[in-house]
Amino acid sequence: MISGLVCIVCRADYRNAPDSDAIVVAHHNDHQMLACRGVCARMASGSAAGLDETPLPLAERMRRHGTDRS
Ligand SMILES: [Zn+2]
Repeated sequence: MISGLVCIVCRADYRNAPDSDAIVVAHHNDHQMLACRGVCARMASGSAAGLDETPLPLAERMRRHGTDRS
């Protein structure tokens, strides 16, 4: 599970597209689950705007991915 680094719907890799408009749509084990704003977010959460929450910076998400292996 690479939560926070890819869109959970279309699997767009935000590490390769840091300017993507990723938004928080769910949580999984304290990780933010992200999806692209719009169609992907609507599929993931039922709302095109996702949750009212700001995603962590990409660098922070990558750091957590590298250290959290629970
Ligand atoms: Zn997407």
